[in-house]
Amino acid sequence: MKNSFLTVISCLLFIVAIRAQGDPLITEVWNPIPKIITPGAKSSDAPSDATVLFDGKNTNAWTQVNGKDFAWKTDSGFMMVTAGTGDIKTKQSFGNCQLHIEWRTPFIVKGESQGRGNSGIFFMSRYELQVLDNYNNRTYSNGQAGSIYKQRMPLVNACRPPGEWQSYDVIFTAPQFNADSTVKSAARITVLHNGVLVQNNIELWGSTAYIGTPKYVMHNSKEPITLQDHGNPVCYRNIWIREL
Ligand code: MG
Repeated sequence: MKNSFLTVISCLLFIVAIRAQGDPLITEVWNPIPKIITPGAKSSDAPSDATVLFDGKNTNAWTQVNGKDFAWKTDSGFMMVTAGTGDIKTKQSFGNCQLHIEWRTPFIVKGESQGRGNSGIFFMSRYELQVLDNYNNRTYSNGQAGSIYKQRMPLVNACRPPGEWQSYDVIFTAPQFNADSTVKSAARITVLHNGVLVQNNIELWGSTAYIGTPKYVMHNSKEPITLQDHGNPVCYRNIWIREL
């Protein structure tokens, strides 16, 4: 008898508490249900819903920017910038995306500043995330590895020594344009270099410019990703992308 009396009292107290604080069920969102995917065994491995752009062997996703056949050197597990052949680009175009890419600057150190292990990843063929050997190699801060070239310096220098594989994990938001070609919303980018945050959802000022101020020039909502031939034998491997 005493027990059931206590149960009734507890229930009443519970109802009073809900009345006082509101119903927690109201703020639970059950639909839609996020799609279940299978992550890679290691976080660097492509998850089940990624498009693999380079698996270490197959370069079918790529072509030279100049329209010629793919001419970069491929070896066991990587592809390498072959100086003078020019930039390569994805055959497929991308807008908002998550990109994983691994790169390695030459073990034998040659050159200095921008001349040492220079390459780059151009989102939408325009916005360069710099690839450079900045391990004991001073250059302008907004041009070092992890920078959005000549726009935003990285938060830290997370470079590994030359000859070691490094990774970028990038979340890129494409810019949007109005019909009159003015900018509706700027591009944004978040970059992790070797797992370390170096760009935190920053806004891009426009297309990468070597000289002068970057500015936006209207383009398609999806464009190829380009890898730069800057004359240095930089290697790439394990490239995958998820469209967002
Ligand atoms: Mg570059």
